[in-house]
Amino acid sequence: MIYPIVIYGSPLLRKVSKEADLKDPGLKQLVFDMFETMYVSDGVGLAAPQIGKSLRIFVIDGSEMAKDDPSLLGFKKAFINPKIVETTGEKWAFSEGCLSLPTIREDVERFSHARVQYYDENLEYHDETYEGVKARIIQHEYDHLEGILFIDRVAPLRKKMLKGKLNDIAKGKINAAYKTKIMR
Ligand SMILES: [Zn+2]
Repeated sequence: MIYPIVIYGSPLLRKVSKEADLKDPGLKQLVFDMFETMYVSDGVGLAAPQIGKSLRIFVIDGSEMAKDDPSLLGFKKAFINPKIVETTGEKWAFSEGCLSLPTIREDVERFSHARVQYYDENLEYHDETYEGVKARIIQHEYDHLEGILFIDRVAPLRKKMLKGKLNDIAKGKINAAYKTKIMR
């Protein structure tokens, strides 16, 4: 099933998501649907709140960006009940976008390394440290589970300049290549 993408202006995106029930028999299907929704929307990551589910799950497939960063080829993973237990290294800036914020791209500073503990879609537990763009995507998606959007992490002056664009998105005045909705 392909879900519409819940966009900026939806209170749901500002909520802290709940732990997923690992015993839920629908979990695997949900993860599958999240990958499908991410692919038709041309995203490299998607968090459950972005499809209207306040659950601590996100999926990533960095293959799309592999032409610029070959290490991302085949970087396809589901993160269920993830915990970022440590961020380390230098902060660096990189231009980010988000399916919930169509047409907006801004430089965001993030730590170079992130250690994350999580379950995959087969309910296997992992404790791994990622770096570079992988660590960045994980931090971006993890933020969604905390109700944080990447525009919260851009310089205040830049955010001020985005105000008009953000208001338009919140009013549904956008032209995205995928189905979107405001969810209250
Ligand atoms: Zn996002």
